[in-house]
Amino acid sequence: MPRKSTDLTDRLYDYLVRLGTREHPVLQRLRQVTARETGDAAGMQISPDQGAIMAMLVRIAGARRCIEAGTFTGYSALAVALALPDDGQVIACDVSEQWASIAREHWALAKVAHKIDLRLAPALQTMDALLAAGGANSFDFAFLDAEKTEYDTYYERVLKLLRPGGLVAIDNVLWSGRVADPAVGDASTRALRALNQKVHDDERVDICMVPVADGVTLARKRP
Ligand code: CA
Repeated sequence: MPRKSTDLTDRLYDYLVRLGTREHPVLQRLRQVTARETGDAAGMQISPDQGAIMAMLVRIAGARRCIEAGTFTGYSALAVALALPDDGQVIACDVSEQWASIAREHWALAKVAHKIDLRLAPALQTMDALLAAGGANSFDFAFLDAEKTEYDTYYERVLKLLRPGGLVAIDNVLWSGRVADPAVGDASTRALRALNQKVHDDERVDICMVPVADGVTLARKRP
C-alpha cells in the first residue's frame, strides 16, 4: 500500500507546530513546567498539534459539555477549555493530586478555571456518577487518555454520555506501533488492539483514525 503521509522530520515537525498551531502562551508555559517538574512522565502530555486539532473539533462541534479521562498536568483540558464558550464545561477526571496542582495553576493563569471541573477519582467512577445523575446523551465531546486497560469500559460509558452526533477522541491508538506488532502482547497493547478492532466494527459510530502524535481515533456517535 502506498504511504500517503509525509514523513515528519524534527525540522518539519517544528515547522508544523510553528505555523500550524497558535499555541496559547499559558499552554506553552504549561509544557515547559511539565517538562521540568514531571521528568519522564512528561510524555503523557498531548502535543501542541494534537491540542490544536482537539480545540478545532470542539469549535466545529459547537461543544459546550466535555469530559476527559486522564488529565495529568491539564494541557488537554486547557486546550479544550480555551476553545469553549464562556459557559462551556470540561469535566476532567484524574487520580493524581500531585499533577493536579500544576493543572489548576495554569487553568487559573489562562482565566478558564471556571470552565474546568476536576474530579479526583477513577474516571469510571465519575462517569458512572454522571450517568446515575441523568447525564446520558448530554455531552458533546469526550477525550479518552487514562488507563489503557480500562479504555473499553470508558468507551462504553462515554457512548452513553455523548449526545447523538457527539464525538469521542481516543488517544494513543497507535501505541508507538506496538498495536500492529504481533510480537508485543502486554496487557495495554492487547487492550488497545482489541478496542481498535471493536471501534472499527462498531455500527454505533462513524470513525477515522488520525496519525497525529501517537494516533487518535475520532468516533462520532451516530444519531
Ligand atoms: Ca496519551
